Amino acid sequence: MIGEEEARAGMTKRMGIIGYPLGHTLSPVFQQAALDELGIDATFEVWATPPEELADRVAWLREPACLGCCVTLPHKQSVIPMLDTLDETAAGIGAVNWIKNEHGRLSGHNTDAPGFLRSLREEAGLDTAGCSTVLFGAGGAARAVVYALRSAGCAKLTIANRTFEKADALAVDMTDGRFRPLVTGLGKDDLADSVPYAELLVNATSLGMAGGPSPDATPVTADLVSSRALGYDLVYAPPLTPFLREVEAAGGRTASGLSMLVYQGVIGFELCVGREAPVDAMMAAMQEATRAN
Ligand code: NAP
Repeated sequence: MIGEEEARAGMTKRMGIIGYPLGHTLSPVFQQAALDELGIDATFEVWATPPEELADRVAWLREPACLGCCVTLPHKQSVIPMLDTLDETAAGIGAVNWIKNEHGRLSGHNTDAPGFLRSLREEAGLDTAGCSTVLFGAGGAARAVVYALRSAGCAKLTIANRTFEKADALAVDMTDGRFRPLVTGLGKDDLADSVPYAELLVNATSLGMAGGPSPDATPVTADLVSSRALGYDLVYAPPLTPFLREVEAAGGRTASGLSMLVYQGVIGFELCVGREAPVDAMMAAMQEATRAN
């Protein structure tokens, strides 16, 4: 059993992140900064949880000492049947990235979608309503982005993915009334019909991720990109990814997904702690941590 005695031991509240593996997570850096800034007697911890320990971990989350936790891979879907309720966004996306403990009842939330929209608004001043968009990728993160774009009234979306079938399945899942994403592959000819006309390009593939299998790769090159485009990369390490470099080379603006990471955490913090999060302190802690790396 995880931490039962610890939970009874004192008044200090606990929050954390569950996932596996969790070697490089940045969440504790900016979450602890928020708790400290507000003078809250609580710790934000790394709870590496292999799949076979997930049920025990979730049972422990119901303890009075625990305020809630952030959830990352590989548990975003598998945790759902273990919770008591789901909010509308988590149900719509089919994934949970925050759990709140309220008197032993656990609710599941998805803050990736609103975190993405808030990041676009605050970092780039972009309102996605009416925006013609191309999204690269059709995995878990792309799913939250499509949901967010639909809820924000995005006029025209093309989902471009290496595996066409996955993009097609995502588009079918998210089609709703007037929102009907188009689907294409990642080849240059595939992208020529959509990318040059897009005002927003979003990379939600893992291409370009430092330490990943394709750190130098980009889903698109500058010759297809309009100088009116904003390039947004969910990959936040390095801050200037190969994809963002291509958008810059085309004369477009760029924004990094680092602030999406913080804003999903801001919304999760406010859910679990019940107070307004100190965004500036969280951003500053994150920037210091990424500069140090
Ligand atoms: P995922 O579910 O594993 O999806 C990976 C996506 O990348 C799929 O669309 C996959 O295409 C594509 N891909 C992988 N290797 C490729 C290659 N060699 N060539 C072309 N496409 C390739 O991962 P995820 O959870 O969606 O995460 C995607 C990225 O977003 C990660 O880098 C993650 O760190 C980042 N992310 C950032 C935030 C944030 O807050 N900023 C939040 C969530 C995720 P196929 O379908 O063809 O396999």
